[in-house]
Amino acid sequence: MKLVIFDLDDTLVNFAATRKAAHVCLARFLDAEGVDSAAYLRAVMQVDRPLFQRFEQGQLTRAQYRLQRFAEPFSLIGLQPRDGLVEALNKIFMDCVNDTPLLFDDVLPVLQRLRDERIRTAILTNGPSDGQRRKLKATGLGEHVDHVAIGEEIGVSKPLAQAYHSVVERFAVARGDALMVGDSPELDYDGALAAGLRAVLLDRDDVYGDGDRRRILTLDGVWPR
Ligand SMILES: [Mg+2]
Repeated sequence: MKLVIFDLDDTLVNFAATRKAAHVCLARFLDAEGVDSAAYLRAVMQVDRPLFQRFEQGQLTRAQYRLQRFAEPFSLIGLQPRDGLVEALNKIFMDCVNDTPLLFDDVLPVLQRLRDERIRTAILTNGPSDGQRRKLKATGLGEHVDHVAIGEEIGVSKPLAQAYHSVVERFAVARGDALMVGDSPELDYDGALAAGLRAVLLDRDDVYGDGDRRRILTLDGVWPR
């Protein structure tokens, strides 16, 4: 193994915990607006993933994705939002998620250990460019890896083979010497294997035990290979 490529959200950045904190901020704001925040935020969780997939597939622009994820939940709970409310909710969410992201505890020790052993490291993420850049800056992660690739910037997203290849090609490394590590079975494991890389599924919640994919429960499992 000469190169380890990490996914960002829910692999290095604890996005679930960060989003929960952001939802607390949203709830406070919604309650003051007289909106049932619990019902609204349940609806947000329902619509977010399908909308994000449409963004990844190029069916929605980034701006459309961001507003629709906070607009559609109002339809689901049968409310008509006042002018500007959707935009205000998006701004509260973005500021919290991007400027105060939380890293998992095992991230920096593993990145340091890989660097000590002269194994190259990279991040490959599908998220929107500006948000991911803010997260990288807030966490300092960019300084701990050799290369960062963001789907929107390179023009191709996981699980398309060219996304993984574009990272490997930055280094004098064969695809078979590169390991993709991430929490998504489809985007970080199946796609990477199909592209000729090695892969491990990061299963922090221990929910994929029945599958055939090679998995690790923490980033310490990356070491040694
Ligand atoms: Mg992820």
